Amino acid sequence: MHATMPPLEVHSLTAEAATQQVLRPLAGRTAIVTGSTRGIGEGIARALAEAGCNLVLNGRRSGEEGDRLADAFATAWNVEARYHAADLRKSSHAERLIAFAQEQFGPVNILVNNAGIQHAAPIESFADASWDEVLSLNLSAAFHATKAVLPGMRSRGWGRIINIASVHGLVASANKCAYVAAKHGLLGLTKVVALETANDGITCNAICPGWVLTELVQRQVEARAAASGMTSAEARMELLRAKQPMHEFSSTESIGALTVFLCGSHARTITGAAYSMDGGWIAV
Ligand code: NAD
Repeated sequence: MHATMPPLEVHSLTAEAATQQVLRPLAGRTAIVTGSTRGIGEGIARALAEAGCNLVLNGRRSGEEGDRLADAFATAWNVEARYHAADLRKSSHAERLIAFAQEQFGPVNILVNNAGIQHAAPIESFADASWDEVLSLNLSAAFHATKAVLPGMRSRGWGRIINIASVHGLVASANKCAYVAAKHGLLGLTKVVALETANDGITCNAICPGWVLTELVQRQVEARAAASGMTSAEARMELLRAKQPMHEFSSTESIGALTVFLCGSHARTITGAAYSMDGGWIAV
């Protein structure tokens, strides 16, 4: 035994409470997941709900559709869930989203900045409006939401902020100037928030996925198929082969599981980190 190892403690938890802690480690916490009506955000929201979190979902669906989705979450995982249709390209909407979550549930313990979009074009023909849109949603929204949520987290001495960046936060691809710039910026923001909160019980980390087969990627597959005359299945394989050594999409469930880990007690000293889940993309 290591000399500094503490003696084994007798735990006073009942077997039932211990089981609950393992099955629903985040029970009683409140999480906001931006862009959670589909794709990666929905996968993360599902994983957090399964871990016991109350949730505020967000996205571009109508209020009625979003409320139905929130009800489905509440029923499936026996948690509280609400929907807010904040358009996070606008800074005031990020603040409204945080205020709504606080009104509904009180303290917000977990913020997942996930909402994002993609535009692809060479830089000379990249529309100014597309640049502004990508930067506002993929980067500035995380700044505004973090700024609004931090005072509450600080005052309670606990908080988890997870930024869904991308492999494109670490390396570039042609024709994605705004996306690559925004995701590199998001990793910078992650590190600064980590430094400014290092001794306040708050952690801030990023997840950097490679390819995940969501609507955002399906549109790129279809564009590739249309341009080359390939079938959709062929275009999917081409897309994977072009960048990822492992020819497999990461799943939204796996990104959800990593998020839950980063919110859990064993991740309490992980902060300012960028976790790749990219089939070896950046190992090349
Ligand atoms: P998606 O297009 O499937 O889903 C995007 C979500 O964001 C939807 O819920 C949508 O309603 C919401 N959204 C869009 N515009 C919004 C706005 N203005 N305000 C609020 N919500 C808005 O995308 P996805 O593939 O699930 O991507 C989610 C995140 O993961 C993005 O930040 C993306 O950059 C990142 N990412 C995706 C991949 C991938 O391969 N799919 C890889 C790396 C990183």
